[in-house]
Amino acid sequence: MEAIPPDSGKPVFRFAPSPNGRLHLGHALSALSNEAMARKLGGRLLLRIEDIDLARCRPEFVDGLMEDLAWLGIAFEPEVRRQSQHFDDYERALTALQERGLIYPCFCSRQEVRADVAAREAETGQSWPRDPDGAPLYSGRCRWLDPGEAAQRVAAGEAHVLRLDMARAIAAVGTGLSYAVFDSGGSRHEVTAAPERWGDVVLARKDVPTSYHLSVVVDDALQGVTHVVRGRDLEAATDIHVLLQCLLGLPTPLYHFHRLLLDDDGRKLAKSRQSESLAELRAAGTSAAAVRRQLGFG
Ligand code: GLU
Repeated sequence: MEAIPPDSGKPVFRFAPSPNGRLHLGHALSALSNEAMARKLGGRLLLRIEDIDLARCRPEFVDGLMEDLAWLGIAFEPEVRRQSQHFDDYERALTALQERGLIYPCFCSRQEVRADVAAREAETGQSWPRDPDGAPLYSGRCRWLDPGEAAQRVAAGEAHVLRLDMARAIAAVGTGLSYAVFDSGGSRHEVTAAPERWGDVVLARKDVPTSYHLSVVVDDALQGVTHVVRGRDLEAATDIHVLLQCLLGLPTPLYHFHRLLLDDDGRKLAKSRQSESLAELRAAGTSAAAVRRQLGFG
């Protein structure tokens, strides 16, 4: 795939929220961190709407996040990329991986995947390896299907996901995968990526013809993003992104992982846990300046 180079030679940053709920303070921290670093480095700041999950993302949340970001006073470049309008770009990347035999269809349901792992654990008396998010690695059942049979099942319309064959993917790029992390003072250090700890990740779902991992990598390249500023919760997943960049011949941006905001129980703020939204704070009379100050950007 060809990446479009940034037009100005300036660093390019992006904030990339998913419109599946209202933004909370954690999102504000991420957006403001991007803004501060872009300003410091004289960079451009882009907004990308990560709305591939058509079932969970809603237009009113897109309007809501635009409103919240405008209220916070963050200025993005006018062209906003919406992932749901670019499924063909992700399809091309999938085809490139498919042609190299690096992805395979998997017909297992979630229950089957869970049952497989439980059976292995019962058999060996040992716990099956987990990925960095704590989910058991895929057992690999469909990796061994006869390719002809798998193709026939796909052609017959059987529901499936597409998984990356992690062992083959790593063999294709060689060992020693690494990327550079930068800090707010501008210094950089190299870190080793260990994508194998994720196993055969899903790159396209039954209902969504792509995945977070694939679209984020394709879009960062197509938008010429040079600096990715994201929360520490996405640090481990960056290993998958660096591997995909390598496989697809795309540049690897520099990365910075910012702190996470925790609730009173020490858990990360989340839409699913009804963390107080920026809209609620605003309605309760909090000013944008107060939010900036509270997050250390006053
Ligand atoms: N869309 C992702 C989220 O809202 C973040 C994307 C990224 O920084 O790669 O968590």
